[in-house]
Amino acid sequence: MIEIKKLSFSYKHCPVFDNVDLEFGPGNIYGLLGENGVGKTTLLKVICGLQRAQKGECLADGVKTEDRAPSFLKDIVFLPDDVSLPLDATPEKYVGEMGVFYPNYSYGVFEDLMSELNMDSSLKFKEMSFGMVKKSLLCCALSMGTKYVLLDEPTNGLDIPSKADFRRILSKRADENTTIIISTHQVKDVENLIDPIIIISKDGVLLNATVEEITKNLYFDYSGSFKENALYSEMMPGGYLNVVPNENGEESNVNIEALFNAVLRNKDMVKKMFSSKN
Ligand code: ADP
Repeated sequence: MIEIKKLSFSYKHCPVFDNVDLEFGPGNIYGLLGENGVGKTTLLKVICGLQRAQKGECLADGVKTEDRAPSFLKDIVFLPDDVSLPLDATPEKYVGEMGVFYPNYSYGVFEDLMSELNMDSSLKFKEMSFGMVKKSLLCCALSMGTKYVLLDEPTNGLDIPSKADFRRILSKRADENTTIIISTHQVKDVENLIDPIIIISKDGVLLNATVEEITKNLYFDYSGSFKENALYSEMMPGGYLNVVPNENGEESNVNIEALFNAVLRNKDMVKKMFSSKN
């Protein structure tokens, strides 16, 4: 369990978080969503202890992550958006070097993932496209067998079939002992993958809720006509998609882009609606 308690963080001239509380438990794929520059990468770095908060704390199983204790580091893998790689190396060499630090690393898992993505692990990184590098690194990260998996903008640079591959291998990797956190501003890429959904902005955590809690409070209306009480409406072929308060307890399917827009446009209302968790 990762617990973030009353965390405040600033870069030298740039406040990022003020008094943030969040928890990440096992068995979930958390989506950490927010526009560019709101602090998603910073939060992931705080979680893995690469950045130190000025106030508050981040604990993994009760231990401060900023201490970077070996017992914690063996449990966590962080895949940044920009990795500086030995360009002459191949994924099969790289994964072995990385695996030395992880007791549950499995080359077999790595091989399976690479073949599922139709990737050649003997190709040098310098011979690969950006998307191919990204997929190789994802396979490396997921084969470390860690309890915590942090992925920063993992779908950047992936083509459409690869985004579907990404969702498939992530769903397979998820299990009851693993906590996966995916940060992204490309919210559509993680639709039907993430649950709970956390949306952050410069104003802090706007939404932190499971899909079940979201659909209990919000109704995604695809019926076509414009709804006056919508938090957000968008034109679709055949009419409108509306996000409205769920007053009749009806079930609906979350449209993640519409949710994202509804939350950003109605910050106070959404915070109040989901206030027991935020
Ligand atoms: P996101 O991942 O949501 O795009 P970041 O965590 O990268 O956001 O950045 C949050 C804010 O902190 C931005 O305003 C960014 O400009 C600033 N920032 C990020 N890294 C640094 C740094 N090393 N030094 C100073 N400011 C930074």
